[in-house]
Amino acid sequence: MEIFNYDAEIAFSSAAPGYWAKQQIPEFEWNDHHWQLKNRIRSLAQIEAHLNLIEAERAGILLTGTKLASAVTPHYFNLIESGNPDCPVRRQIIPRIEETFDDPREMTDPCGEDSHMPVPGLVHRYPDRVLFLVTDRCASYCRYCTRSRVVSGVGDQHLETQWEAAFDYLENAPQVRDVLLSGGDPLLLSDNRLDKILSRLRSIKHIQFVRIGSRIPIFLPQRITPELCEILHKYHPLFLSIHANHPRELTSEVRDGLARLADAGIPLGNQSVLLKGVNDSVEVQRALVHKLLLCRVKPYYLYQCDLIKGSAHLRTPIRTGLEIIEGLRGHTTGYGIPQFVIDAPGGGGKIPLNPDYVIRSDDHETLLRNYEGKEFLYPEAQDLKPLIL
Ligand SMILES: *Cc1c(COP(=O)(O)O)cnc(C)c1O
Repeated sequence: MEIFNYDAEIAFSSAAPGYWAKQQIPEFEWNDHHWQLKNRIRSLAQIEAHLNLIEAERAGILLTGTKLASAVTPHYFNLIESGNPDCPVRRQIIPRIEETFDDPREMTDPCGEDSHMPVPGLVHRYPDRVLFLVTDRCASYCRYCTRSRVVSGVGDQHLETQWEAAFDYLENAPQVRDVLLSGGDPLLLSDNRLDKILSRLRSIKHIQFVRIGSRIPIFLPQRITPELCEILHKYHPLFLSIHANHPRELTSEVRDGLARLADAGIPLGNQSVLLKGVNDSVEVQRALVHKLLLCRVKPYYLYQCDLIKGSAHLRTPIRTGLEIIEGLRGHTTGYGIPQFVIDAPGGGGKIPLNPDYVIRSDDHETLLRNYEGKEFLYPEAQDLKPLIL
């Protein structure tokens, strides 16, 4: 078992240019998101040029390509340890043969999104908010992607967002006060496209705020340009949820990109997925949430990994998530504690899971325990009589 070094994990550093050093990439190219996207690592040969692969990875890279493409930005690739197949960054992004293992209880659409689409590309599950899938592409592909049925463009199913029908639907749905852009990764769209989509949404009076869900700040921090921040700034209130799973992903480039977003007044949240061998311990999660707070990001949700096909090797017992929350609550600030949720298999939406701090409760009193296990009694209010002197 490796010893976890909190101080080392919480420190911000850059891994650039890492595996690219020998090729002498000029800094202006490295810092250009177009260069990063053009030079993504995709093939077995490209991956093997840098990493010592194990057989499960080599077979995975060859066999999973028709299910979910593999692609990693050079920025993110540099965080992978060459000789360590258990590296927490590597487990998220390098395919493994386990992705082809079949469990009939796993699904291609684990959150039941396809059956909640009034218009292709628009998922309307909750009364007052919708999920708007604006692209099927990402900067890099997470191997546990809950939307792998449509994401990356290599599978049988394709995302066919009906733009005009979607805007029509939103214009005629006054109960929708909150639109969440996702995909794929919305920040992969050009500045111009984003500007147009946001301005169209903003022209709908009943939409009170807009959110973007994106892993670009982690995979491709070079995309968080001052120009992009200026565009986003025009559409406040606009929130952004990022997706970081391990403190090592928060490099100095990521920190600087997040600072630009925060300085543009964008409230930042993090949605992380609980993954076996990646972040399934209190100590990793504590370092992650502390480092997020240093970047002005509030941990928002911690997701139990969805029952997506080929994810068994990355899923943890539900108990693990509860133990993590219990290990954070009280031990660190409430600002650092995400809500642990399961997106109900088949389409029930997010269900919160919490450790139980109530020992017993009746109409008169409740016996509680605190984070240290000490017990406290809280009596309910009673009808009182005036005190007669
Ligand atoms: C997660 C999700 C939302 C947003 O939920 P919040 O709890 O408001 O963050 C909206 N629609 C769908 C379909 C979702 O999966």
